Amino acid sequence: MSPPPPPDPVVVLGAGYAGLTVAHEVHRRSRGRLPIVLVDRHPVHVLRTELYEVGRLARDGGSTDAWVVPLARVFERSAVECREAAVDGIDLAGRTVHLSTGPLRFGSLAVCLGSVAAYYGVPGAPERTHQVYRLSGALRLARTIRDVEHGSPYLPGERRPRIVVVGGGSTGTELAAEIATVDWSRITGVDARPPDVLLLTGALPFLAGFPPALVGHARALLGRAGVGLLHGVNVNRVEEGRIHLEDGSVLAADVIVWCAGLEAPPIVRDLPVPHGRGGRLAVDPTLEVPGHPGVFGVGDVVEFRDPSSGMLAPGTAQAAIAEARRAAQNIVARALGEPLAPFAYRERGVIVALGLGQGAAALRHVTIWGSPAALLKRAVQREYARSVRRGEPSSLL
Ligand SMILES: Cc1cc2nc3c(=O)[nH]c(=O)nc-3n(C[C@H](O)[C@H](O)[C@H](O)COP(=O)(O)OP(=O)(O)OC[C@H]3O[C@@H](n4cnc5c(N)ncnc54)[C@H](O)[C@@H]3O)c2cc1C
Repeated sequence: MSPPPPPDPVVVLGAGYAGLTVAHEVHRRSRGRLPIVLVDRHPVHVLRTELYEVGRLARDGGSTDAWVVPLARVFERSAVECREAAVDGIDLAGRTVHLSTGPLRFGSLAVCLGSVAAYYGVPGAPERTHQVYRLSGALRLARTIRDVEHGSPYLPGERRPRIVVVGGGSTGTELAAEIATVDWSRITGVDARPPDVLLLTGALPFLAGFPPALVGHARALLGRAGVGLLHGVNVNRVEEGRIHLEDGSVLAADVIVWCAGLEAPPIVRDLPVPHGRGGRLAVDPTLEVPGHPGVFGVGDVVEFRDPSSGMLAPGTAQAAIAEARRAAQNIVARALGEPLAPFAYRERGVIVALGLGQGAAALRHVTIWGSPAALLKRAVQREYARSVRRGEPSSLL
């Protein structure tokens, strides 16, 4: 008699903050007994929370080593199989994912495919703006600003290069502060004119949803960093070097960066299941996709409303990791035929970097700002990167 076929594996789609943690935790909780396949289009885990540091990216001359951790290294001491492939489709009914390398059946599935820039139908925005949501985009932006700065040496009467960042959330704010405070002369090797940086918040208030104390400190520090703030008007259209605003005014810009929001990737938006804002998966309290036992959504790809507080979990690495831990627990529970547990999100705090070694942070019971906040952010990022490189799961503030 031939032995029974091996069980279909736990398949984890996406090796970002959510997917990496799901794979780690399923392996740990099942003591290596559940086969796990982790799929990503890249053979590396990208430290996406550091992609606003375009000065460092420009300085490093194109090497991205500091921003990535090879998956082979992360999982060298565990039995998680890492597969480099693009996810082309998900057949929930057939319990199969379609990869660029061929079909793969799953026993359980964790969809952790992250998010993509949302352009809200603004003409010209996808083609004529930069973004830092992906490493390739952040690298391209860093090179573009370096070139613009290199071509803008100090000459009498010359204007400063204008860089407009669209979107006044934490990503746009951190990026604007970074661009305004980097020493571009050192990077370009010429006496470059510092850029004139404008942060366009659109109709939403600056740092909408953040604690008021943090917003106040951030506004003051951003002013000190030399970033101009423009509130209350949405972008209507983007042309080469020009932004048309809803009120009819036009802004000239040498570089435009789009940090105005995110949505679910098309593969996820197209799934025949309930969706929330931006096509995100509307999951059950256990993070399971309704009607599909054993299929979980984790991280930026989901819209999770906490049933007790009624609040939406934010699209952050911190929330993605917290969700991933509960999803992994539930994946193992499903395999053992045990009851699933609901997820509840408790934020530990938020920290925004504001250039010149300054920052603002709202932790559970205290707000801190200035260099202590920036140092805390750096320490949290370093600790996360270090523990991932060691092959251990980590939480992120
Ligand atoms: C500049 C910046 C700063 C940030 N700062 C913070 C911060 O300080 N703190 C914080 O908590 N959060 C921060 N965030 C948010 C945080 O990065 C995201 O919330 C987090 O990355 C979400 O994790 P995820 O695993 O859901 O998605 P991701 O980390 O984006 O991972 C998704 C993975 O899926 C893969 N993938 C996608 N589509 C496919 C496909 N079709 N085929 C194969 N693979 C695919 C991608 O390659 C990627 O590896 C920041 C984000 C940015 C952009």
